[in-house]
Amino acid sequence: MHEKILIVEDEESIRKLVCAYLEKEGYQVFQAADGNAAIKAAHAFQPDLVVLDIMLPGIDGLEVLAQLRRENGVYVILLTARTEETDKIVGLSLGADDYVTKPFSPRELVARIKAAFRRMQSNLPEARRQQLIFEHLRLDTGSRQAWVDEQLVELTSIEFELLKTLAEHRGLVLSREQLLEKVWGYDYFADLRLVNVHIGNLRKKLGQQQDLIATVRGVGYRFDDRVV
Ligand code: CA
Repeated sequence: MHEKILIVEDEESIRKLVCAYLEKEGYQVFQAADGNAAIKAAHAFQPDLVVLDIMLPGIDGLEVLAQLRRENGVYVILLTARTEETDKIVGLSLGADDYVTKPFSPRELVARIKAAFRRMQSNLPEARRQQLIFEHLRLDTGSRQAWVDEQLVELTSIEFELLKTLAEHRGLVLSREQLLEKVWGYDYFADLRLVNVHIGNLRKKLGQQQDLIATVRGVGYRFDDRVV
């Protein structure tokens, strides 16, 4: 199976370089040089993963991200410049799964993409189907759906994985490092704020039940719900 990746970047040299690296790894790669082309390409090619630069001519990467998110849960890695600290956080709160800061090494980007696909592979519905049932929360690991008080909650792939991981370790504190490793599949250092922002997004979606995820100051996060 050739996974499909869409690279959205107006700087041709970067786009070509990333494209060459990914094709060498056997991925099927599509390219777009601006926001409108990105949305068209996403519709036409249905990529499994999108590498999305924020600074683009026309509609920018954050708007593209918002539009993709309204449509589906495709895995999105943002490319950001070192100075665009707020863009990163806005991007993550809009539902980007990860980001890479420019200048970046293509090898690091490839490593993250591989980790993302490894995780998606290990979560194929037929691999293991399980219902996790608590008083307020129910998770189906096969359909990758979550219900809070029997109301379906729309989660991105990473949000589902984060919630599932916490729920599987009910009552135990998981550090941000452990969550990065288990959820994103990173066995090397990445930005711990990835975890904070996604926990924040997840809590918003849990609405009145946001206290299901407790912050344990200076340690990490713990899922608390009664088993029924
Ligand atoms: Ca750019």
